Amino acid sequence: RPVPTTTTPTSSPSSPPLPRPQPFRVMQWNILAQALGTHADNFVKCPPTALEWNTRRYRILEEILAHIPQVICLQEVDHYSLLERVLATVGYEGVFMPKPDSPCLYLPTNNGPDGCAIFWDNTRFKLVTKETRVVEVWHVQSNQVAILLVLEERTTGQQLVVLTTHLKARQGALLSSLRNEQGKDLLSFLSEHSHLRPTIVCGDFNAEPSEPVYATMTEETTGLESAYALLHGGQEPRYSTWKVRGEQDCCHNIDYVFYTPVSLHVEGGLDVPTEKDLGPGRAPNLSYPSDHFSLICDFTFSPIKDADI
Ligand code: NDP
Ligand code: CA
Repeated sequence: RPVPTTTTPTSSPSSPPLPRPQPFRVMQWNILAQALGTHADNFVKCPPTALEWNTRRYRILEEILAHIPQVICLQEVDHYSLLERVLATVGYEGVFMPKPDSPCLYLPTNNGPDGCAIFWDNTRFKLVTKETRVVEVWHVQSNQVAILLVLEERTTGQQLVVLTTHLKARQGALLSSLRNEQGKDLLSFLSEHSHLRPTIVCGDFNAEPSEPVYATMTEETTGLESAYALLHGGQEPRYSTWKVRGEQDCCHNIDYVFYTPVSLHVEGGLDVPTEKDLGPGRAPNLSYPSDHFSLICDFTFSPIKDADI
């Protein structure tokens, strides 16, 4: 998949070259809960073998390990202990927050509730703070969750706030306004803990850019912008998920990586697969184990300007 890049600041010809800050890589991915993929989603064009856990688990791990991100934000995780065990062998630590009443629990041969997870490369970052939240709508808990971590880069002491979530699914005006309320709750959760530190907010928001929650997350006061919109000339890509459900071809852009441009610089990112890459059956398939595509961005911490001190 081609990697679009942005420009990085360089020193002027007269000054010595600036030491290049080391980028860190963030992965955002709804990995498709095994119970949902096999018993709820009705992926009629997906080869049955591509949905078998015995093969799919290796494709999921392969996708993660091919990119070796320093921060991994996942949704629809219903096999957390497997991921935790495997990723620990290559230096990751993780946190899992299950949904209060996961739909997986109502499906046959489920492996427990699905939820959100964040893993981080423990050699690069150490954990400072861990917060989990059941996302509220009009002060009432919903069935959606969020994880917020404060991580600290071991070599520099630079801190980073990472928040991930999976907002309420399904279409309709009521659900769109419910997602917007969930977005507002996420922002208040963030404001309690971020203290103006560099921040990444990523997840499956189940909302196209035209939905109110997208405007809520990116309005000027939040200080957040979309990394993929930046990488695509100001517009979000056309899709972050593409699947055939029954008779329906479902192609939507609903997954995002938001970041604070005042303190983080986007060095580059990974494009989603092309229509040709996916083929007529769309995803999941034997190459792409989830109906959502992994979003991957490289960031550097922006140097603190005198004016900010
Ligand atoms: P959501 O509406 O947020 O959806 C849950 C999951 O379903 C998401 O992961 C979503 O994936 C996926 N999904 C979205 N659209 C479809 C679709 N058309 N077909 C199949 N899957 C889809 O659910 P909630 O978390 O709000 O849970 C709903 C409630 O329903 C729970 O509280 C639970 O109690 C209840 N429930 C009860 C059942 C029962 O048998 N009694 C069965 C199932 C749920 P994505 O984000 O990728 O779109
Ligand atoms: Ca799903």
